[in-house]
Amino acid sequence: MNHSLYVHIPFCKHRCHYCDFNTYAGKESLIQGYVDALIQELRIASFFLTDEQVHSIYFGGGTPSLLAIEQYEEIFKAIDQSFTLTDEIEISIEVNPGTLTRSYLDRLHKLGFNRISVGVQSTNSFDLTRLDRIHNINDILEGVRFARQVGFTNINLDLIFNLPWQDLSSWERSLSRAIDLAPEHLSVYALIIEPGTPLFDWYSRGLIAQQDQDLEAEMFETTMAMLDRAGYVHYEISNWAKLSTDRDYRCQHNLQYWYNLHYVGVGAGAHGYLGGVRTENESQIEEYISRIRCKNLDSLSFPQTPATLLTSEIDLATQMKDFMWLGLRLVNEGVSEDRFHKTYGCSMRELFDSEISGLLDLGLVRWSEEGGGTLLLSKRGVMLANQVFMAFI
Ligand code: SF4
Repeated sequence: MNHSLYVHIPFCKHRCHYCDFNTYAGKESLIQGYVDALIQELRIASFFLTDEQVHSIYFGGGTPSLLAIEQYEEIFKAIDQSFTLTDEIEISIEVNPGTLTRSYLDRLHKLGFNRISVGVQSTNSFDLTRLDRIHNINDILEGVRFARQVGFTNINLDLIFNLPWQDLSSWERSLSRAIDLAPEHLSVYALIIEPGTPLFDWYSRGLIAQQDQDLEAEMFETTMAMLDRAGYVHYEISNWAKLSTDRDYRCQHNLQYWYNLHYVGVGAGAHGYLGGVRTENESQIEEYISRIRCKNLDSLSFPQTPATLLTSEIDLATQMKDFMWLGLRLVNEGVSEDRFHKTYGCSMRELFDSEISGLLDLGLVRWSEEGGGTLLLSKRGVMLANQVFMAFI
């Protein structure tokens, strides 16, 4: 079985108004110490995967494009020395359009990155200002153009809709301009106003409107229709990939999560899942570095590294439920009886008989004949997916 590697880069130039990710602004002086600690954690984590190959690596953040190329060279050297990589490995990096130059992208590509995920969020200047992004429309256009020029052939654009001030036609224009950039992949999420963010504060004080659920549903339906017309396959609730006969543009790294397969997570706040155990790392940068530097390795058990803060063994019943709700996210693939039986040696239909019957009665799922019977979200289920997932959580 192939494994995946997630590397968290928790640095940003500045915190956007909606962000509740594990990332910090104004801590650039810690970057080199953090890279050293990351390399150390990668070497320790590689002992968990002595026989397995790694088929995807994802650098997420934060803003991974804040690291210098020389720092990526050090990290890549450690990865090459510590892990066995497949020939067709996908290596992704999240980049902020406000941090890119042609030469930086060129060097990333030459180093081995073969997929970039551009944090566009909106192609509307007003939205970018209100979200307090560090980039403008020109940065997006240039970033994507440079990425193409230096040879990236697998580009994702991240977009957000359901902004409190956004109407349907504004979202349509934002999405339409993103489609015009011809990315191979699009990740499109509805904004959630998270507590602790400036947006939440504005909302609490009545300075911005409440989000409208009917409008959100209309925007999502419009998104599906526009991306379908533009030739994208809707393969996961929030993700679309260009259809190609000779190349799979779906995000191989995220598919690892949705198939409930194993991955190692390194870096501050990173999560991992190995051998039925979920892990979560210390999230504060300073504490992360000091744990890697100081902690005694003898006190650790699989799959802990010195940065591991929490470990939880996932019992078989929970693994099977996770398999269901994560698999159902794959809207055109679903969960097949064959795949479930091959993984757990029992029948999904029998095990989850009451959950599935209840969801069928509500019209939220449907069966297809493939794979010995495959359970899929219905059209209504795609719109009300959280309700479906709750049946298995
Ligand atoms: S760039 Fe991304 S990770 Fe950084 S503050 Fe903005 S939303 Fe958060």
